[in-house]
Amino acid sequence: MSAKKSMLRDRGAIAIMTSGGDAPGMNACLRGCVRSALEAGFKVFAILEGYQGLINGDIKELHWDDVSNIIQLGGTVIGTARSAEFRERSGRLKAARNLLEHNIDKLVVIGGDGSLSGAEALRAEFPGLVDELAATGAITQECAARHRELFIAGAVGSIDNDMAGSDYTIGADSALHRIVDALDAITSTAYSHQRTFIIEVMGRNCGHLALMAALASGAAGCFIPEAPPPENWADVLCEHIADGVRAGRRVNLIIAAEGARDINNNKLDAQQIKNALVQRGIDPRITILGHVQRGGVPSAYDRCMSTLFGAETVKILAGGSCESQIAVLQQNRIGPTSLSQAVAKTRAAGQALASGDSHAAAAARGDEWMRMVNIQKTLMRIAPPNEQTTPDTRRTRIGVVTAGRAASGVNSAVRTIIRMALASGAEVLGIEEGPAGLIAGKAHLTGWMEPELWNAFGGSRLGAGVYREKHGDLTAIAGNFRRWQLDGLIVIGDWGGYKLMGKLLKARKRHKEFDIPMIALPASINNDLPGSEYSIGCDTALNNIVDAIDKIRNSTDTAKRTYVVETMGRYCGYLACCAALASGAEYCYTPEKPLSLDDLRNDVRELAAAFHAGNRHTGLIIRNENAHDEYTTDFIATLFEGDGGDEFDVRKAVLGPLQQGGTPSPIDRIQAVRLAYFAVRNMLESIAMGVAGGYFIGSVKGEVVMHNWSQLRHYSDPWRRSVSKRWYSDYEKVIRRLAIAPEIRASGRR
Ligand code: ADP
Repeated sequence: MSAKKSMLRDRGAIAIMTSGGDAPGMNACLRGCVRSALEAGFKVFAILEGYQGLINGDIKELHWDDVSNIIQLGGTVIGTARSAEFRERSGRLKAARNLLEHNIDKLVVIGGDGSLSGAEALRAEFPGLVDELAATGAITQECAARHRELFIAGAVGSIDNDMAGSDYTIGADSALHRIVDALDAITSTAYSHQRTFIIEVMGRNCGHLALMAALASGAAGCFIPEAPPPENWADVLCEHIADGVRAGRRVNLIIAAEGARDINNNKLDAQQIKNALVQRGIDPRITILGHVQRGGVPSAYDRCMSTLFGAETVKILAGGSCESQIAVLQQNRIGPTSLSQAVAKTRAAGQALASGDSHAAAAARGDEWMRMVNIQKTLMRIAPPNEQTTPDTRRTRIGVVTAGRAASGVNSAVRTIIRMALASGAEVLGIEEGPAGLIAGKAHLTGWMEPELWNAFGGSRLGAGVYREKHGDLTAIAGNFRRWQLDGLIVIGDWGGYKLMGKLLKARKRHKEFDIPMIALPASINNDLPGSEYSIGCDTALNNIVDAIDKIRNSTDTAKRTYVVETMGRYCGYLACCAALASGAEYCYTPEKPLSLDDLRNDVRELAAAFHAGNRHTGLIIRNENAHDEYTTDFIATLFEGDGGDEFDVRKAVLGPLQQGGTPSPIDRIQAVRLAYFAVRNMLESIAMGVAGGYFIGSVKGEVVMHNWSQLRHYSDPWRRSVSKRWYSDYEKVIRRLAIAPEIRASGRR
């Protein structure tokens, strides 16, 4: 539908509120929601300060520019509160009256399960409240007839990630960023003093933050409500710490969720854990992270997902469903689900925990989640279980090589491979310096403690590199395989690594040494690897880009300026697209979408109109490095500078290698663990069954899957231009829809 048409529509009024505990990303959600609603032709109101504001009548109309420049802010700019009065019918009667005063019968609530339950209570009662208001003359009969129903859409804001039916809630990733940053900082002091730290993190009814933080940091212990420790936990923990010290472990981080309980359903807080350790001769320090976890700048992922949640809430309301629905993430896709069912399941899990039924609570989290609990239990060990004492026995030997350019998170994958393989009685040969080491024969047998602190490091601790083909390489590699007696090979890398593995598989006829199972694991900041919606390193790169854009935007003082920012990505627009979504860019140019000079000219005119019309100070264009062969970053900057007239000046920023480096993000560390676990498991199974296949692993619709190497032919070469639809192609439409007001878009386009 054209922008003009949408302007002419009057779809009624939507009100948006944030309620309950604040969460980073709420502002991005608000922006996504407000602008989607305006775009769809609704009148939009904000309810300030949650339900209390609704009762008090703190309602104001919002326009396009009211949500400018908020996507990068933590908290919520429209305020949130808790309201005892709203829990009473009398409070909700006032709320209904205030809504109807503005002809609002559609409400978006961004909040936790409490806030969403409140919204559902209001919806259920609404017809009765309307009748009462009409009977007392507080509203007209005509108003009562027009607004008999209240329609609700929700977006779950909860740093705990505790909503059943959604793999993501707003703020959970940013909270994890705060926690993992803190754990990395504590690690350096703990290392210096060889100290034990107990870190309490949020999560009254859900151990998500604690578990993920433990996996991401490489913690030595983790207490979560869904998996209470055995009766003798204090003795076990002390022994574990003491054994660790003997084995050379200098850092013992014990993560406790604030809702952790023992097997008898007694609360187990940081102080109790400390007391138990002190009684047994260990003197730990406690750090309670508290509200630090809630605050601060939202992560790139939170900004993207929250924006999309906001857009989804409007889709829900525009759909006119009488049942209240919330935006959720399932199978890596955003869609609606029933509010009451999701809240009921969440509450049931909470009640199960309260009554000490941790099994039911764990079951509610799902199999995949519980698998991560078990992986954490293995990874935190100080030695493999049932360590083999007979050195003469021939053990299965897996080689691991990291190939390609730096991608943060690779070390977590190698760490997982080493520990999971050793825990299964196999050995891991770490091949050094990437493909060069594979050719030169540089490798060593890894030990359990070697990757102990690797999670926080970017790059590859084994050493990586780009494969440069030379005559005789394969013969040299075959010789090394023979000498190393490899039973299987895991290649963690980018397309260069995949190509190298493909060569080895192809050379099997000539070199029988390659007749072993081989598995490729995707690691590339470009996120361009076949058969995977995610590759290790892309989330850190995205955060690096979004951080840089925040700084670039802040550098503008009084001048009106447009920035053209060039990102990496080769022929994949993922980084550019998500960076644009996360930073509220006006335009995003990617290799997947054909670009013409007319498109660019239209965009300049539109942007100039936007600057001309309002109090806009910055414009932002994200261009993938290969978006177009001729329309380069320089060209686009020159065109916007020239054709933008006096409306703005233009600066360009080519972000370059800063995108590749840096401390791995929590998502990259955790996904690396997940993918690597799957790789080891399948590798060991293949070896046990004598199947010498070639495979590549990917994350598809939230599931880890293993593809047969022959499937590779269905994918185009990621390092060559090929215009294709990607799973996130729709993001580009959202970026454009939320950037410039429809009436300005209409006036700018000719
Ligand atoms: P969260 O939304 O973060 O879970 P709360 O549980 O504190 O936070 O809920 C926020 C507000 O939502 C409460 O202060 C109250 O006004 C409202 N609310 C919560 N539960 C209900 C309910 N069952 N009925 C009516 N209002 C509720």
